[in-house]
Amino acid sequence: MNVDPSEIQKFESIAHRWWDPDGEFRPLHDINSTRLKYIDDRTRVEGLDVLEVGCGGGILTQSLAELGAVTTGIDAASGPLKVAQLRAIETHMDEKIRYIESTAESFAEVEPESFQVVAALEMLEHVPDFRSTIRALAKLARPGGTLFLSTINRNPKAYLMAILGAEYVLNLLPRGTHDYEKFIKPSELAGAVRDAGLLVRDVTGYSYNPLTRGCKLVNNPSVNYLLWAQKP
Ligand code: SAH
Repeated sequence: MNVDPSEIQKFESIAHRWWDPDGEFRPLHDINSTRLKYIDDRTRVEGLDVLEVGCGGGILTQSLAELGAVTTGIDAASGPLKVAQLRAIETHMDEKIRYIESTAESFAEVEPESFQVVAALEMLEHVPDFRSTIRALAKLARPGGTLFLSTINRNPKAYLMAILGAEYVLNLLPRGTHDYEKFIKPSELAGAVRDAGLLVRDVTGYSYNPLTRGCKLVNNPSVNYLLWAQKP
């Protein structure tokens, strides 16, 4: 199984805090509208079947459903999924969202070629083998479907910003949230995407300022970045 139990445990232990906009998941709340717009500007999601892999407490899945997508969120951790489900019920979105405990690889056996849009944001740096995840994401997408990925680049600046800055100086994220070795260079991500038979359509950086809580797209993918791909 392509799952790291210590990673899952990190997310289980703070799952109940997922929707606190000032809690441990604050960065995901702050960046959500920027990444949602990036997705919806490239593939209008209204009415489409959309899958989010590694959805956690459902911040992105929920907002995709609010744009009119028929959404499925899967995650290997059960606690965050329960929180996501509760959120969907509370906001009367539960008829538009399915939450299922699964990994990309297992789910690709159950519902292959089923989704017009497949997203895996801020999760690839938490799996043991991101290339295996990407092959599964490719299998989950329908022919012609689009895929959206995001992760963190691996270089000294990314180490400084995403680990030293966020976990040790600003205490924005719990220490140990990220493992530098698991960060992924855009060239490595693009290579894995192509090896999975997909076309790379775009790579764009995004910059997040924890002090102003602002987030914007930038040309340089030096720290955080998004990748848009298409299945032929
Ligand atoms: N994608 C969400 C949550 C990111 S946090 C967002 O951006 O808002 C990373 C999530 O990936 C956690 O919920 C964690 O449980 C999940 N995860 C980690 N490894 C996984 C795996 N192998 N398969 C599925 N989900 C995984």
